[in-house]
Amino acid sequence: MEEIRALHRFGQHFLVDRNVLAEIIERSAVGQEDVVLEIGPGQGVLTRALLKREISCLHTVELDDRMKPGLETLAAQDSRLRLHWGDALRLDYPADLSPFPNKVVANIPYNITTPLIWKLLLFARLGLTYHLYMVQKEAADRLSAPADTRERYPLGVTLGVMGAVTRIRKVPASCFRPAPRVESALVEIVIQRHHDLTCDPLWSELLHRAFAHRRKTLLNNMKGFHGLEDWAGFLAETGVNPRARAEDLEGDVWLELYSSLRKRIGL
Ligand code: SAH
Repeated sequence: MEEIRALHRFGQHFLVDRNVLAEIIERSAVGQEDVVLEIGPGQGVLTRALLKREISCLHTVELDDRMKPGLETLAAQDSRLRLHWGDALRLDYPADLSPFPNKVVANIPYNITTPLIWKLLLFARLGLTYHLYMVQKEAADRLSAPADTRERYPLGVTLGVMGAVTRIRKVPASCFRPAPRVESALVEIVIQRHHDLTCDPLWSELLHRAFAHRRKTLLNNMKGFHGLEDWAGFLAETGVNPRARAEDLEGDVWLELYSSLRKRIGL
């Protein structure tokens, strides 16, 4: 295979460690029933490993056109492989992916981790409920952070409410070429509940507003949100301490707050 120079702006760090590759495949347990989505296949290391399994179909989404010759050669040899070109944050997934995937398995560009997961969560209700990602180690910490920790953030809250996040292992920089400057980690997300939660923009608006200024109390962050004047009264009615900070609250409290707010603003 011809050497392709890795580009920093595309977050290109190609996986070269065979053990890590085998672990990804094993953990994802992809098989006959699975339609798999891979974001950022690059030179196709993970793509090839996925195709060695008896999966029913593999969709890939890649931004860098230089990967076309390599991936098109693969696709010509295997009709289960469907290539999609462009920005994974902008693809019209329901329109473009048929059959629709139930698992995403990917060594993703680290700079799009949070928006990409928000985007793919929208399709939990279409059956995309299993995610296995290679991410920057700090991102894995945030995605799995429990309440009352500094790493807690809106997406981590959401994943905890919708399912379970497991940090599987750290992956050292030496497993990639070129080696990234950061450590990596494999993280698994399994969606089990509230499949359409993020389809309502109010859910993420509420969290982002609450976490906007981390040192402020919940009440100070929420003042005036959605035209609601009496946030102090509303929080008290819902049983939430207005002096709490967003990072203190458990997932079920967020759910309670969200459904009370929906009722209050007449949704
Ligand atoms: N999965 C490959 C490559 C990982 S590097 C491997 O493990 O070796 C990340 C890949 O994501 C690169 O191929 C890069 O071109 C691609 N990429 C970067 N930004 C992207 C985006 N917005 N949408 C789709 N692919 C993207």
